[in-house]
Parts: sequence; C-alpha cells; structure tokens
Amino acid sequence: MSFPGCVSGLRCVRCGRRFARGLDSACTACGPEGVLEIELDLARARRTLTPRALRSRPLDAWRYEELLPLAPGARRPPQAPGWTPIFDTPRLAEWAGVRRLLVKDEGRNPTASFKDRASAVGVARALSRRAKVVACASTGNAATSLAGAAASVSLPCVIFVPEFAPEPKLVQLLVFGARVLRVRGSYDATWELCQRACGRHGWYNRNAAVNPSLVEGKKTAGLEIAEQCAEAMPDWVVVSVGDGCTIAGIGKGLAEMKALGFIPSVPRLLGVQASGARPLVDAFATGRDLVPGPAETLADSICVGHPRNWRKALARVRESGGAFVAVPDEAIVEAQRETGRRAGLFGEPAAAAALAGLRQAVASGIVGRRACALAVLTGSGLKDVRGAQRAAGRPVDLPPEDAALDAHLREHPLG
Ligand SMILES: *Cc1c(COP(=O)(O)O)cnc(C)c1O
Repeated sequence: MSFPGCVSGLRCVRCGRRFARGLDSACTACGPEGVLEIELDLARARRTLTPRALRSRPLDAWRYEELLPLAPGARRPPQAPGWTPIFDTPRLAEWAGVRRLLVKDEGRNPTASFKDRASAVGVARALSRRAKVVACASTGNAATSLAGAAASVSLPCVIFVPEFAPEPKLVQLLVFGARVLRVRGSYDATWELCQRACGRHGWYNRNAAVNPSLVEGKKTAGLEIAEQCAEAMPDWVVVSVGDGCTIAGIGKGLAEMKALGFIPSVPRLLGVQASGARPLVDAFATGRDLVPGPAETLADSICVGHPRNWRKALARVRESGGAFVAVPDEAIVEAQRETGRRAGLFGEPAAAAALAGLRQAVASGIVGRRACALAVLTGSGLKDVRGAQRAAGRPVDLPPEDAALDAHLREHPLG
C-alpha cells in the first residue's frame, strides 16, 4: 500500500469498508453511491504543518501540501487556486440581520469559481497517474475549471454539459480548447454518460462526488478560513449546496484544522439550497436517506435533483451542529443585488444563494442576530450575465445635454 503525503487510508461513507487504493474512484462494492473519504495521519502532518512553517509558504492552496493527496513536489497546474480574500461587509451584515458578516470571494480563483480548488488537485492527480485525457460532466464551473487547468498543462479535456448550461460558461470552455459535448438530456443523464465514458476509455474522471481527491481540493477553503480567521472565528460558515461536495469539503478542512490545533472549534455549517432543488434540505429535516427530487432554479450551479455527495454533506453539517435552508429564486436575485450594492461584490446566482440563505436563517431564528457569519461567495457573477440582469436593473438613457442630466438628477438624486 502506498498513499502519497500523509494520506493514511480510504473509507466508504456508505458501507464503511476500507481500501488500500482508489484515491480517484468510488467504492468497488457500492458503486457511485459509495463515495470514499480520504483519511489522513494528522499526527504526522502536524510535525511539519505548523503556524511557523506556514508563514514562509506561498499564499495559495498548495501551502497545505501535507493535507493533500499528492506526493511532495508533484507536478501541478501553474495557476494555483486559493487564498482568496475575506471581506468584512457591515452594510450587508445589516441586510442579512447578523452582527458581523464576512464574505470570502471565490470569484478570484483562476477561472473565477470555487471549483478551481478541486480541478487543480484533479489535474495534478491525473498527471501523477499519467492519464492521457481528463473529463467531467458539469453544469459549468467544474467543467470550466477543469478545462482551464488542463489547458495550462496541455492535457486534452472532454466536457459533457447538459443543455441548460449558461452561454458564458460554454464560451469559457471553448476558449480553453476543451472538447465540449452538449448532451440532449438532464444533468443526471449527462453525468452517467460521462461516468461510463471514463470507464470505457480510461479517462481521468473529475466528477467530484465520486472522486474523493477533489473534495480534498475543496477542503482547502476550509483550511484557509481557519487560518485567515484564526483570531476571531465566525460562528457560522454559509455555503450553497448542489451535489454537496463543497460544504463537505469545507467541513472537512475546518475539522482538520481543529484537529491540528489551529482553531478551538469548528463553526456551524449552514447549507443553502434553492427551493426548486432541495433534496438535501429535505433529507436533513427527515433524518432519512436522500430521495432525488426535481431541479428547477435560476441558480444553475446548484440546480441538482440527485446530489451525489449527500452523505458527506449531511454528516458534516450535523456534526457541526449546523442546519440547512431552502430559498426561493426571488430571494436569490435580491441577495445578488444587495451583495453588489452593499459590498461591491458580484456573485453568480448560486453564490448569492448563500447570502439569501443566511438572511432567511436569521429571520427564522436558526442563526442568532449576535452571530458572526462567513458566507462563501462561490463564483463570479460575470459567469452568468443574463441571470444577473434580473438583479441589476436598466441603464438610464440620456441625450448629451447638461439640462437633461440635471433634470434626471433632480428626479433621482444620488445616494
Ligand atoms: C458547484 C457550485 C456550488 C455547489 O457545490 P456542490 O459541491 O455542488 O454542492 C455552489 N456555487 C457555485 C458557484 C458552484 O459552482
């Protein structure tokens, strides 16, 4: 058995079976339902991953190399994701109803979304396995980030997209030179076609839910939150949820930083889904296994009726003492507008959903008004300009005349 770095094992979250290999695949007994969890020898990691050692490392996701499923010095995509800024947003806090609100802007990653964290690790894993092609099925950001990272190391990339992917995301894929296959069918059907193709052709499969190494990439956001906020940790970390990999990854990162002694406790996790695609909200409320449901929301990145990583997501939220909420599309549009106007931050609808969820959780008493919350703004609003138009309003049309300008300002004063 040889795992890279401080990885000590793999465990199926469904049947509990342990594996000596399979860092990039699912449980051989359970299939895709049996997502594996990567276990680490944290005592060993702790010997070199100290606050002092971190001070001299580059400010990106690779600074936590002990905690990633990569051999030391492994080849990685040159555009490192991570170390995205966290902003204190007092006027947005007022709107959401909390004492303090921090926003971590993941739109500043190499291809402008949180998914870059997973894809960078995926492409590094593909290189270490000498894969000839990387592939994934995605509504957009997972694909874009994979295509960008693959292009940066000259790996061919095949992307399966469902029909409803927004045009700007498709354009980004095509610019990166990926083979884009638009599948006439649902996200689920698209996902399964990709699964089979990877199996049949030996392509490296970036599908986050079944590939445990990708959750390790997503985990780096949790590691960063712990390091960046170590002086004053938030009470809640708020994350929008589609497949569940993002919140599961962030939860894992926070738990590891607690185990390593960087933070005294793990903040509560608030998972946010859209009302039209809320199977995890329902499974959390009933305490039963997830039942796939409909998926309809303008927030395309969380428009998932059959989440693949629901076990990890539910477990992390439960163990943090957290909660799940669902928000209607109108609340997502409002949150997108308020985030822009009150904080100068532009998130895509799926990103703004986190802020809508926080506001709703405060209104319904789940999150206290004295709380400090950190919302993860998972992707840039420029990813989906058409979606944002609902939030943005219209420009004012004017002739090039002072009188017309002054008349307009009299009617609509600034500020
Ligand atoms: C993928 C994505 C999410 C949700 O992540 P999951 O792992 O699917 O739960 C949220 N926001 C954005 C912008 C995303 O691209």
